[in-house]
Amino acid sequence: MTKRIAIVVPCYNEEAVLEETMRVLQNELNRLIEAEKISSDSRIYFVDDGSRDRTWQVIDAIVQRGGPAIGIKLSRNRGHQNALLAGMWLAEGDAIISIDADLQDDVTAIGRMIDEFDRGSDVVYGIRSSRETDTYFKRVTARSFYRLLALCGVETVYDHADYRLLSRRAMDTIKQFREVNLYLRGIVPLIGFKSSTVEYDRAKRFAGESKYPLRKMLGLAIEAITSFSIAPLRAISCVGFLLSSMSFTVTFWVLCVRLFTDRAVPGWASTALPIYFLGGLQLLSLGVLGEYIGKIYIETKARPRFIVEAVTSRSELALPVEQG
Ligand code: UDP
Ligand code: MG
Repeated sequence: MTKRIAIVVPCYNEEAVLEETMRVLQNELNRLIEAEKISSDSRIYFVDDGSRDRTWQVIDAIVQRGGPAIGIKLSRNRGHQNALLAGMWLAEGDAIISIDADLQDDVTAIGRMIDEFDRGSDVVYGIRSSRETDTYFKRVTARSFYRLLALCGVETVYDHADYRLLSRRAMDTIKQFREVNLYLRGIVPLIGFKSSTVEYDRAKRFAGESKYPLRKMLGLAIEAITSFSIAPLRAISCVGFLLSSMSFTVTFWVLCVRLFTDRAVPGWASTALPIYFLGGLQLLSLGVLGEYIGKIYIETKARPRFIVEAVTSRSELALPVEQG
């Protein structure tokens, strides 16, 4: 049986590219349908992320023309990650592929992703084989971003943006992550299941300009770190601990100067000591508070604690697969 797939395209102020995106995606879809890799009821979902230009009118026109397109309009701009989630949430099919609207991601990788899916992968990551088409600035910021994430202990797939395939059960699992601060690239590796990668060349944007200015990139980076890691809180504890330990050495030194030399200015010891001591103590206490806040933060996420991939049993009756 051929599989029904859904392609999800988040669009923010993309009026200049959408017609071409539709043409390219539809061609690819038709090719895959003819090759009997996917079923003919596969669909392309365009999610308008509260665009301020004519994006929605363009999407609507595409949908009215008939064919495999479906339009979803968000009430306002909620950002790439949320727009993507909205589309993936509503999309129907055995596998869901997310792709940017600007045709930077090579669509021929879709066929290869589906091959991997047929071989049993629940998650297929699209990985850029090179970053030559990116500007120097984008390359450097992206690389340091991945490095910083790795330092904070966030598991990420290097050079993978949001071009990926998710099986139906992988998507259903993602629905159980109830966090409001959403960083999909961090959540997908958390769900486990069999995953594989597909390489592709990343082209230049077909038309229009990047919808990810520095402000949004920084926003994504902060979201990624603070939604996945309490490392910054722990760093405060460490600095506090270091300073408090040092303050004991400083105390010793100040007392020596005060008691055994005549270099001490009156009032110096009683001013200098509390500065180091209290500073260290305060940071340490902040760090301890931070540890508890970190726990509260992790608890309030109420993420699923385990995800069942398969249950085998010898009885004819299938066991219910429960997540919890
Ligand atoms: N996008 C979105 N909402 C936003 C910003 C971007 O849905 O607030 C979409 C955009 O339309 C595109 C994708 O996210 O389909 C990636 O954006 P872009 O290509 O501008 O990012 P870049 O490739 O420059 O990192
Ligand atoms: Mg782009």
